Amino acid sequence: MGGPTNVGPTTSDERRTTNDYHVFVRVAVPVPGLDLLTYAVPEGMIAPALGARVVVPLGSRSLTGIVIEVAQASSVPDGKGIKPLKSVLDTDPFIPSDVVELARWTAEYYAAGPGEAITAVLPPKTRDERADAHKTSRVVSLTAAGTDPDVKVTTRQREALDVLAGAAEGVSSVELARRGVSADIVSRLQRAGLVVVREARVDRDPFAAASLEATPVDPLRALTPEQDAGLERLLELSRAGTFKAALLHGVTGSGKTELYLRLSAAVRDAGRRVLMLVPEIALTPQVAALFRQTFHERVAIQHSGLSDGERHDQWQRIRRGEVDVVVGTRSAVFSPLRDVGLIIVDEEHDNSYKQDESPRYNGRDVALVRAQKAGALAVLGSATPSMETYFNAMNGKYDRIVLERRVMDRPLASVTVVDMREEYAAEGPDVILSRALRDGIAARVERGEQSIVLLNRRGFATAVFCRQCSGTIDCSNCDVSLVVHGEGAARWARCHYCNYSTRVPNVCPTCKAPYLEQMGFGTERVEAQVKKQCPDARVARLDRDSTRRKGSLVALLAKFRAGEIDVLVGTQMIAKGHDFPRVTLVGVVSADVGLGMADFRASERTFQLLTQVAGRAGRGETPGEAVVQTIYPTHYSILLACHQDYAAFYEREMLFRKAMRYPPLVSLINTVVRAKTLAAAMDDASQIVAQMRQQDPAMTHYRVLGPAPAPLGKLRGEYRVQLLVKGTNRRKMRETLVAIVNGRPELARRTLIDVDPLSVL
Ligand code: ADP
Ligand code: ZN
Repeated sequence: MGGPTNVGPTTSDERRTTNDYHVFVRVAVPVPGLDLLTYAVPEGMIAPALGARVVVPLGSRSLTGIVIEVAQASSVPDGKGIKPLKSVLDTDPFIPSDVVELARWTAEYYAAGPGEAITAVLPPKTRDERADAHKTSRVVSLTAAGTDPDVKVTTRQREALDVLAGAAEGVSSVELARRGVSADIVSRLQRAGLVVVREARVDRDPFAAASLEATPVDPLRALTPEQDAGLERLLELSRAGTFKAALLHGVTGSGKTELYLRLSAAVRDAGRRVLMLVPEIALTPQVAALFRQTFHERVAIQHSGLSDGERHDQWQRIRRGEVDVVVGTRSAVFSPLRDVGLIIVDEEHDNSYKQDESPRYNGRDVALVRAQKAGALAVLGSATPSMETYFNAMNGKYDRIVLERRVMDRPLASVTVVDMREEYAAEGPDVILSRALRDGIAARVERGEQSIVLLNRRGFATAVFCRQCSGTIDCSNCDVSLVVHGEGAARWARCHYCNYSTRVPNVCPTCKAPYLEQMGFGTERVEAQVKKQCPDARVARLDRDSTRRKGSLVALLAKFRAGEIDVLVGTQMIAKGHDFPRVTLVGVVSADVGLGMADFRASERTFQLLTQVAGRAGRGETPGEAVVQTIYPTHYSILLACHQDYAAFYEREMLFRKAMRYPPLVSLINTVVRAKTLAAAMDDASQIVAQMRQQDPAMTHYRVLGPAPAPLGKLRGEYRVQLLVKGTNRRKMRETLVAIVNGRPELARRTLIDVDPLSVL
């Protein structure tokens, strides 16, 4: 496959008219907001393939873009002013043509420009033309003369030769330095003809850095009867060789991963490749390590937590056809993997599959489209499927495979609901850990078992308010109050949206009264409370704040798995997929955090989070217990999560979605207009609403709700107004909206369009 070979002459002759050109290409350049650009292929230059990189002039700049379409002159009506390509960088497609197609589909479906979509499919470094700048390393190896044991050398040189004697392939200069062999010794040996030094390309290997403590899987162990039946069905579907989709609905700990592995091996044996998507960066190495046990070095990983270099190397390995399995997060759905026969989306309900910048795609849905185009099997796995996926399974659009029991017949955790109103009455209004949870943690610490405590809110306190004027300390850029991080002198107040931060003042900035109080609490406060109430416990916290440094998340999880931490306090990050056999207690502090939000998915999200986190307990030999603290103990999403009754939750939630006309019964497009003033944002949004209504006065295709100030009415200094389009004809909704917004390019830049939003907040 081609590296960056220049296969055509470079031309800067721009005086020629388009009549001279016969072939044109449309090119996507990774610049947000730019539409496809058309260029001519100059005579004498071989027309580039779809997916090849080309260098194009744009204004006074030269940019590298990807060929999206090759067109004959007849289809380029007004060729005037079309400039020729500067050069073609690849003889073969750099991006496989099916991935180019997928990017186009993504751009269109999610109402994004081709620039955004092509950015999503490119590996990080090609954006700035350092495309193939691989890291190289000096590798030192012995010559024949160097292998002579009697050759006359100094003691230090002898030591160096001994190190090299064991390594036929040679040893990198970095490794030699680590073993105390200096560069000076190497060059002396080189001059004496005893060693040779060569430059070798090294693929930065992210596996090396990650903790690969996955429990080895016994390839011969017997499947449970349910697993067996499920695998049979999946194999059958994969053998069809055409597009199929299946929901693998298995309770936590039912052994879904085992099925992914065996199914993948069968697909590989049939000569096709596997794409495995996982929601969380932290889960990638763990899952990849499991796949490595079966597929060895033919596994690549792709996620945004890798350095650009690592990601680029992995991407190139995939592109060169050196791997059979790609394990990655959302963006891995665009991997340049050929002959894809199976796409697995694990924890398909997870919110992190949705990208929150343009293109606002859902990796799960793009995966389904990719599988469809590739004639592959798509497997969506979850213990708590999204409403959309379950709806499709119920309609017969997807096959549904059920694993109702945990492996080894381990029971699901027993769940205790603590009504916090009673707890406040008994223990006072400042209680954070209920008696049941406190005692439960202490008992686990004593027995040498582990506990997880979840609170889906970061920080120490959620607000600071003044007792005299009851004002709060708010962000100056956003419509939210600042969150307190740290304690005592190290206290900072920070905005979780724009990162603005300031020291917590001693007096109220408004009325100068010295009566500031903290309200609400987050993970930091829970961590402090656990430490205070269980002084013998080793306590750690896992949230976005405690894992900012690269590698710290993996390290923390490894420590917990190794039993060096007794109690892990954290946000929803700890609820995901991890398999910790020694955890026997899960506590949920404020199970209702999400329910107060005016979002149509609030109940679904709460149900999923509670079911998932309760599923973390009792995955080993000892049965698990969950303690759920709430002030709404009778809310259906809390109650049904405690009974782990998915079907009942689905039925109940569908009533609400039907009554309110929400997905999965209708489609939704959320639109947010930003402006410097609220009035300006309102004006623009009102115009869009009016034009939308004009286009469909009888409301046959859609209804428009709004405009209204967005729930976060001010963000990073800009005012935001929202309108919602609801309807059954998604294409019509999108096309009408896009035409109206793009009719005013200045407005388009300030308008965010979110197709199939996960949240309308
Ligand atoms: P899920 O992904 O459904 O939550 P996992 O695949 O993580 O469940 O499986 C839970 C645990 O059971 C893992 O430790 C896994 O190694 C183990 N396991 C899976 N299948 C079997 C089996 N057939 N026999 C014994 N142990 C199994
Ligand atoms: Zn802010």
